[in-house]
Amino acid sequence: MLFSTTFLNEIFPEHKGAVNVQIAFNEVTTDSRRQVKKSLFVPLVGDNFDGHDFLKDAFYNGAIGAIWQKDRTLPRFIPTDFPVYFVDDTLQALQLLAAQYRLDVDPKVIGITGSNGKTTTKDMVGTVLESTYKTHRTNGNFNNHIGLPLTILSMPRDTEILVLEMGMSNFGEIQRLSEIAKPDYAIITNIGESHIEYLGSREGIAQAKKEIVAGMPTEGRLYIDGDEPLLNNINAKDLTIITCGFQSNNQVVLEHISMDSDYTEFQIQSETFRLPMLGKHNVKNASFAISIAKDIGLSSDVIKKSLLSLKISGMRFEKLPGPNGSTLINDAYNASPTSMKAAIQVVKDLKAYPKKVLVLGDIFEIGDTSKELHRSVAEAISDEIDMVLTIGKDASEITSKVHQDYPELYAKHCESEQEIVRELQAVLAEGTVILFKASRGMKFERIIEQLQ
Ligand code: ATP
Ligand code: MG
Repeated sequence: MLFSTTFLNEIFPEHKGAVNVQIAFNEVTTDSRRQVKKSLFVPLVGDNFDGHDFLKDAFYNGAIGAIWQKDRTLPRFIPTDFPVYFVDDTLQALQLLAAQYRLDVDPKVIGITGSNGKTTTKDMVGTVLESTYKTHRTNGNFNNHIGLPLTILSMPRDTEILVLEMGMSNFGEIQRLSEIAKPDYAIITNIGESHIEYLGSREGIAQAKKEIVAGMPTEGRLYIDGDEPLLNNINAKDLTIITCGFQSNNQVVLEHISMDSDYTEFQIQSETFRLPMLGKHNVKNASFAISIAKDIGLSSDVIKKSLLSLKISGMRFEKLPGPNGSTLINDAYNASPTSMKAAIQVVKDLKAYPKKVLVLGDIFEIGDTSKELHRSVAEAISDEIDMVLTIGKDASEITSKVHQDYPELYAKHCESEQEIVRELQAVLAEGTVILFKASRGMKFERIIEQLQ
């Protein structure tokens, strides 16, 4: 059980139906199509649909109560004893309910924001802490103003640690999420360029991430990317700030990083950790998980062991067998200039593959400076790379910059997926690694499927 009518009566004083009978709710749902026994239905108003039109479906699929926006007409078919809570705005009601439920269950809450690496870090923190505590975490990428409340409202009552991913595309959003979640611990993974079109500049992006302190208690602990200058002036009341990074002036310094074909090894204060993932950026993501776990009281041995059991979500630097013994890396879950450069760096560091190929596509949602930002990706490319293929509108900028800087390097802008596949035929062999990286909307998985 999540809560009963008694809990709801206090939060939403305007109600009708059998609210004075103890009715226990097992789930909160906003989706009338889902079959969920004993659920509380919260109809949301979207651009294309209004959940209030689907109360009947929700009822037949197991809803035993609902929240209802006052300006909508309540259908007459529902039984008179069906509890209904009237509110001005159902989205706000969902958020308020989540905030109250979080306080009621009172787990230690860890909130994670940043331009890149939120989901990865969330999974690292979750994996490490669930070795010792009853841990609940964001499913997939359910990180916005609806996903976060629903994540909180799906946490079992006996949850000891709640790990929440917090995403945003504009000012004020992280503040709202932080006020709902009230994180005891928070992480800002990095500052990149995603959503720069709404936030104006990297300074704007940093400002928006710093809103995560809004809901934190004064004794809260904030872990940040200490290598990012834009994060070094956080106005954080009495919060304790822990800087993690590669530079020696950080509190948690990451050193002696090395990679073999599937693992990355690194040291923190002469202690060696091993990660079943590739990439220097993932070392930083892991450093947040390690630091929080240590502060919560886990031993190094437990942390090391649980990091080794980490499962990576699909399309995040996912290594796949390619034709003729080649290796394909699908990192096309999403992309920003920062994450594309990070991924290229990882490929350069892969000593096991003598031939390195990049297939890069458009990065979306980076505003007016898109062409420049695409061009900046080429900074990560050097003659350690053997072939660069690009596809899309602005990705051609990468190729043209590579032509300029490394005239000897084979770089080509392709007009179609077929052309990419044709170009790749020549290099598909043992010892070749091919990175696929672009925004989700470029659907790079189609190219990978054609190759396989
Ligand atoms: P989204 O905004 O889509 O939720 P996210 O912040 O959850 O993204 P992840 O899904 O964890 O990010 O990672 C996306 C990509 O970002 C990875 O495939 C990787 O290329 C890159 N990445 C991950 N961590 C970092 C980091 N610390 N710095 C730079 N790039 C990173
Ligand atoms: Mg994510």
